[in-house]
Amino acid sequence: MLPTAHPLAVLFGDSFKAHAGKCVSCNRCKTFCAAFPRLYKIFEEAEQSPRPGHLPEGLEDQEEQRSEIDRGLREALALCSLCGQCELRCPGSLDLAKHIMKAKIRYAENGLTRKERLMAGVDAVGRWGSRLAPVSNLLVNNPLVRLIAAPLTGIDPRRRLPGFARPTFHDWAETRRGRTSGSSRAPKGEVVYFAGCTANYFDPAIGQAAVAVLERQGMEVVVPAHNCCGLPSIGIGDEKTARSLHEANLARLLPYVEEGRRIVCADCNCVHMMRNNAPFLWPTPETNRLAKAVTDLTSFLGELVLQGRFDTALGPVSGDVRYHYACHARTLRIGNETIDLLRWIPGLAIGYLDTFCCGMGGAFGMKEKTYDLSLEIGADLFENVRHYRPDRIVTDAPLCGRQIQEAVGVQMLAPVQLLAEAYGIPTAGQ
Ligand code: SF4
Ligand code: SF4
Ligand code: SF4
Repeated sequence: MLPTAHPLAVLFGDSFKAHAGKCVSCNRCKTFCAAFPRLYKIFEEAEQSPRPGHLPEGLEDQEEQRSEIDRGLREALALCSLCGQCELRCPGSLDLAKHIMKAKIRYAENGLTRKERLMAGVDAVGRWGSRLAPVSNLLVNNPLVRLIAAPLTGIDPRRRLPGFARPTFHDWAETRRGRTSGSSRAPKGEVVYFAGCTANYFDPAIGQAAVAVLERQGMEVVVPAHNCCGLPSIGIGDEKTARSLHEANLARLLPYVEEGRRIVCADCNCVHMMRNNAPFLWPTPETNRLAKAVTDLTSFLGELVLQGRFDTALGPVSGDVRYHYACHARTLRIGNETIDLLRWIPGLAIGYLDTFCCGMGGAFGMKEKTYDLSLEIGADLFENVRHYRPDRIVTDAPLCGRQIQEAVGVQMLAPVQLLAEAYGIPTAGQ
C-alpha cells in the first residue's frame, strides 16, 4: 500500500492505528531526532508524487515507488538509536519508540548486512576481545588498524573503542564463588547481580563496585552466568538473535526469580531492555515475571534507604560531580533516585547536567554512517559539561559516559563507583 494516511499509521501498521487517535498532531516528534523528520519527509514526498495507476507504466512504477520508499524507510529507521525520547515527550503518550522498534524488525526481515550483525554482536566481540587482550587492545587502539578495518567492520576509524578487560568481571566473580557476604554482618537478603556486557567486558570496576556496595548493605550477591540482554540486536531489527539471547537469560535467571530474588543491574540500558522492551516484544508470563524482578541498582539502594537498611557510614568525597541523565535512565525515571542516593556522600557537590541525549546509542555512535550525527546530537551536552567544568561525571549508562569522556575529557563513573569510593572500598578502576 502506498501512503494515503497519517505517516505514522502507515509505517507502524495496525497495532499503531488503534492508538493513533491519541495523536494531537503537535508535530513535536519531528523535532526529537533525525529519524522522524526523515520518515515524515518520505511520506510527504510520496503523497505529492503522481498517483500510481495514473501513470502509463502502471504497476511497474508502483513497485518502483514502493521499493524506493522502502529503501528510504530503512535508511530513516537506521537513524533511530532507540533512545526512547519520542515516547517520553509525546503529549499523546504514544508508544513511538516501541513501534519504531517493531518497524525496524519488519524492515530487517529483508536481510541484514555482515557489518550490522558484527556491530550488534557485543557479547561475541567482547568475549573474543577479552580473551585476546592485550593484543586485541593494541589493535583497536591503533589508528591505522582502525582505518584499514573500517570497510570490513563499518566502525568509524575516529571512534576510540573501549579497551577489553582481562580478566572480565565474570572471571573475577568466578574466583569469589562460594563466598557470601563480604560484610562482617550476617546477610540481610539475597540479590542477583546482572553485569551486562559493558561492565563484564569493558568496565569490570563497575561490577566489582556494585557487588562490594551490595555486600556492604549485608546482602548476599549471586552472579550467575548470563549473556547480552539483546538490545544491540533489537537496535538493528534482528529479533531472532535478540529473542534467543533473551530466552537464554530467562532460563538462567528465572530460577532465582522463582526463589524471590531481585535481579539488580547498574546499567540502565540493560534494565530498559529487560523491563520495558522485552515485555512489549514477547509478552509471555515468564518475560513479565523477569521484567518485574529486574531493577536498577540505584532504585534498589534507594529502597534500602527508605527501609532504614542502607549503610550510611560513608566517608567524605570532595569535588564537583555532575549527573548525566541518560535517555534510558529517563525512561526508567531514576534520575532523582540516583541524585538523592549520592547526596548521602558527605562533601560531594552533585547536580544535574540539564541536557538530553549524548548521541551514543550503543552501536549508533560507532557506525561510520552515524558517527558524525552522534557527535552532533551530543553537542549541547558537551557544551554543558564545558560550561560547568565538573571534576567528574556520573551516569547510569556507562557507554554514554564514555562518549562524554571521549568528547570533553572529563572522567566518567557509575554512581555505584562513587559510593564504593565513599565507603573506602578499593575496586580495580580506582
Ligand atoms: S509527538 Fe505524539 S502527539 Fe505529537 S504529532 Fe508526534 S505522535 Fe502525534
Ligand atoms: S527512539 Fe529516539 S532516535 Fe528513535 S525515533 Fe524516538 S527520539 Fe528518535
Ligand atoms: S544493554 Fe546491557 S546487556 Fe545489552 S548489550 Fe548493552 S551492556 Fe550488554
